[in-house]
Amino acid sequence: MSQITLTFPDGNARDYPAGVTAAEVAESIAPSLAKRAISASLDGSHIDLAWPITASGQIAIHSMKDEAQALELIRHDFAHVMARAVQAIWPDVKVTIGPVRDHGWFYDFDRAEPFTPDDLGAIEGKMKEIINAREPVRTEIWDRDRAIAHYKAANEPFKLELIDRIPEGQDLRMYWHGDWQDLCRGPHLQNTGQLPADAFKLTHIAGAYWLGDATRPMLQRIYGVAFRNRDDLKAHMTMLEEAAKRDHRKLGREMDLYHMQEEAPGQVFWHPNGWNIYTTLQDYMRRKQRADGYVEVNTPQVVSRKLWEESGHWENYQENMFIVEVDEEHAKTKTINALKPMNCPCHVQIFNHGLKSYRDLPLRMAEFGSCNRYEPSGALHGIMRVRGFTQDDAHIFCTEDQIEAETKKFIDFLAGIYSDLGFEGWRIKLSTRPEKRIGTEESWDRAEAALGNACKAAGHDYTVFPGEGAFYGPKLEFVLTDAIGRDWQCGTLQVDPNLPERLDAEYVGADGHKHRPIMLHRAVLGSFERFIGILIENSAGKLPFWLAPRQVVVASIVSDADAYVHEVVAALRDRGIRAEADIRNEKINYKVREHSVGRVPAILAIGMKEVEDRTVSLRRLDAQGSRTVTLDQVVADLAAEATPPDLR
Ligand SMILES: [Zn+2]
Ligand SMILES: [Zn+2]
Repeated sequence: MSQITLTFPDGNARDYPAGVTAAEVAESIAPSLAKRAISASLDGSHIDLAWPITASGQIAIHSMKDEAQALELIRHDFAHVMARAVQAIWPDVKVTIGPVRDHGWFYDFDRAEPFTPDDLGAIEGKMKEIINAREPVRTEIWDRDRAIAHYKAANEPFKLELIDRIPEGQDLRMYWHGDWQDLCRGPHLQNTGQLPADAFKLTHIAGAYWLGDATRPMLQRIYGVAFRNRDDLKAHMTMLEEAAKRDHRKLGREMDLYHMQEEAPGQVFWHPNGWNIYTTLQDYMRRKQRADGYVEVNTPQVVSRKLWEESGHWENYQENMFIVEVDEEHAKTKTINALKPMNCPCHVQIFNHGLKSYRDLPLRMAEFGSCNRYEPSGALHGIMRVRGFTQDDAHIFCTEDQIEAETKKFIDFLAGIYSDLGFEGWRIKLSTRPEKRIGTEESWDRAEAALGNACKAAGHDYTVFPGEGAFYGPKLEFVLTDAIGRDWQCGTLQVDPNLPERLDAEYVGADGHKHRPIMLHRAVLGSFERFIGILIENSAGKLPFWLAPRQVVVASIVSDADAYVHEVVAALRDRGIRAEADIRNEKINYKVREHSVGRVPAILAIGMKEVEDRTVSLRRLDAQGSRTVTLDQVVADLAAEATPPDLR
């Protein structure tokens, strides 16, 4: 039998007969390691302890301490155990697929009766029985005919269709959890008893079309979450409760920010309060961009198919585009346009207008670009995931030599904005060349190095995501962590030599010859809609005073105070503060409660004492009690607080 050499993370290497399993490798090192082992990595891919290893490579044995691998296995095994429990309780249910996702997994079932929330408890109980039975997990490779015969006999039509979709000649792997069998790529744990019975929960049920296709049967999807231990599960459930309290859709109603309706799915009807946030944020971004050397432009919404064909979007992005047909001059021949899904091709049109020289570069061209992209209705989520949105978009036209300096400048710019908006925790991902790509190795080397060096020069670490760049260039992604520990990818910077080539952008170099510029696509917020959603959830609606849509309510305690209430409101508005009067004939406590639900950060209560002394009784949202302040003082203090951070 031939020998292979396996190299361990510490650099040591050992020889084994080809076909050795990771379990045997672990055993050969130490029985204690074999006992702890749950899976292995071979040249970076996650493998099952039971799979034969046939070629030399780098090996690492994993235990439950290796979080990423442990969670992948736990969640995947839970998916199988849940499907098994469902079929144990309802033998007629048909199984389909059950992938791992975010914090757990889901599995899609075909069953005539709908599952109820009570059923989830019964399924969880059955799952615990399966875990307690500590049943072995085993795997076999089957040929296609045997697998087809098996699933025909078991009357599992969805599995048959899955087999049909697996390329001819590819091995079919079967897994058994006890006597329950599933077609699965693996890897898996060794027995069901390795699953933490106290660290999982079935969370909800939803409808989902088979293969995501609305013309195929509607299945029932059961979601679960799982962690390595009970404390992690508890922390997650607490985070979810906190997230539900902060849900921007709930706060959007309470603060009267916006609404959405059936006639315009995925598009926002901004109410005056929400639009206050939007325009305040946009004014701030506009000032920041100007100060950082951007020029602002604006480009058309409805753009001919011709340009999208040239840019490549017509071929590669059409399913996300809103197509607009117009009968020009009533000629009965329709010309085809599309609502722009992105601004880049239009910005190149402006760049191409008039001869550009190397002295014009870098040219930083910004647009608050309104874009429309078709998203399936199931993917829409409040203002976070919409069809119509406005990006804080910009394209930096530059030379290859300028990429590094421009990227560093952008990172500094973004860092200042995130800090102003209350996000101190964020990190950078660098996605590098994918397998399918254009351009020379040297140009990829230079572009990846430029992005990495720019991060270092700006004083930030980054994590490399090999192979995740676009086919034409590497990119940076900026991921924010919010107040309850959730991650949001917002900022991006993408190196692109491709679009200038496709759309024939050029400039005259110092050598008098024509050259192609590089385009850097970049955004800080991503879209205003989504970022405002994140701001609301991050602050639980208690936005920083300068961004608060309603900043001050001046509330009368007695009607004799009305004239002074209006005087106070006028004094505040004079200083640009968003102030309003509440002179309704209601108790002051009622008014305070109502405006607190609306997240108004400052309420000034006015009774006869305040009228006589020319003072106000100031209550801050969430603070205990109130304090008396002179009118001049409160106007000066609140005006200072209402000043955007870049103007202080
Ligand atoms: Zn599986
Ligand atoms: Zn772009």
